[in-house]
Amino acid sequence: AAEEGFDLDEVAGDLAEAGHGPLPVLAVVGRPNVGKSTLVNRIIGRREAVVEDRPGVTRDRVTYEAHWNGRRFKIVDTGGWEQDVLGIDASVAAQAEFAIEAADAVVFVVDATVGATDTDEAVVKLLRRAGKPVVLCANKVDGPSGEADAATLWSLGLGEPYAVSSLHGRGTGDLLDAILEALPEAPAQTFGDAIGGPRRVALIGRPNVGKSSLLNKVAGEERVVVNELAGTTRDPVDELIRLGGRTWKFVDTAGIRRRVHLAEGADYYASLRTAAALEKAEVAVILIDSSETLSVQDTRIIQMAIDAGRACVIAYNKWDRLDEERRYYLEREIEQDLVQVQWAPRVNVSASTGRHMEKLVPAIETALAGWETRVPTGRLNAFLGELVAAHPHPIRGGKQPRILFGTQAGTKPPRFVLFASGFLEAGYRRFIERRLREEFGFEGTPIQVSVRVRE
Ligand code: GDP
Ligand code: GDP
Repeated sequence: AAEEGFDLDEVAGDLAEAGHGPLPVLAVVGRPNVGKSTLVNRIIGRREAVVEDRPGVTRDRVTYEAHWNGRRFKIVDTGGWEQDVLGIDASVAAQAEFAIEAADAVVFVVDATVGATDTDEAVVKLLRRAGKPVVLCANKVDGPSGEADAATLWSLGLGEPYAVSSLHGRGTGDLLDAILEALPEAPAQTFGDAIGGPRRVALIGRPNVGKSSLLNKVAGEERVVVNELAGTTRDPVDELIRLGGRTWKFVDTAGIRRRVHLAEGADYYASLRTAAALEKAEVAVILIDSSETLSVQDTRIIQMAIDAGRACVIAYNKWDRLDEERRYYLEREIEQDLVQVQWAPRVNVSASTGRHMEKLVPAIETALAGWETRVPTGRLNAFLGELVAAHPHPIRGGKQPRILFGTQAGTKPPRFVLFASGFLEAGYRRFIERRLREEFGFEGTPIQVSVRVRE
């Protein structure tokens, strides 16, 4: 996006960010109305988005970035659960289950003015069994008189209840300190990466596209004995699989194998899982059922992978079920509805028959290579110079904005910052992105281009 002003600090931030892997993940769980969304808003320091009074509306966005005392982490907001469909107990239990599997630490929010309910006690049991660090937030303590209510929550056996008013901010500093203590410096998954361990793959796609079938197929006989791999932190929800001569970590596979039997309302749950898997992964293999018409859910999942900045491979599964007619329409769908990922390598596979399974690894490797591409500043500016000379920005209001200089601020995915003498129109920015792709490849990766305007 184009931004006003020209701020060197911000650019330095972009550059510093470049080397970062995935951030530790914090989940916020608790009954409806205890103030989870209010707390998340307070922590991320924004009022937008989270509190949304549209029951039953599936929110796409469930992960937010937060920072405190110079450390960054992700917050997963589990508050959007469709309570009316699932019933309160089921929804809270499902949140907790999700949090347990996908987060590095959990904030459990209780309404101190109400005290611990049976549902709260049930969640505590789940949380305790999981062994993930839990910080107890006694919320709605708006003044000193509420402290006594908060103290009664020691009875939950989760340690100190942090008395907080999410609404007014009271006590949130101490809570955040406790959260930082509970969160690992970096999630376990980055460890393998740091020592050149297995690349992390997320298998995503809407229910029934064939994720578990594909996982079973690729896992085959070759499941790796984990302890043999030095320095690999085993997360029970991940699986190490040997494919194409190297070991890959398929992340968050528990959610794929152990199907969650929630008839309705499962959409939101699936969306949380997708977000969590993307958070941990470097590359997303996005499965699409080629025998069915591309759905809104498919495109939403693709968009999630792009927004998460992951390398992407599109796998058209169930290819064995295609007939001539369907194939004809599929080609058109790909052209029209998949423009957002035209750059992603595509493989046409069948998890049932094993068709073209051998093409999966080369596609993943291509996408990862694009994701890690770095264009030297000199080359980038030579390219930009020629481009701008041949295709100047249209004159607007008597002025012609010029690109002065560009730099690649980061990789994984490639991120560019362009410095310009004026606002660059969206169409021109898209043109530049297109030309960057033509020139430098970037197959299988989203790229981000931001513009800083120097007045
Ligand atoms: P969620 O369903 O757990 O996400 O809860 P919300 O964040 O939507 O909050 C439910 C209600 O509690 C809203 O009316 C909030 O304004 C209110 N609330 C949240 N935190 C506090 C607080 O610290 N003090 C008071 N008095 N009200 C709060
Ligand atoms: P998931 O919900 O994405 O994990 O999907 P599953 O792996 O459970 O598959 C859903 C259904 O599609 C099952 O009945 C599978 O047998 C079937 N299926 C999966 N892959 C293929 C395929 O390549 N071809 C055909 N014909 N059926 C498939």
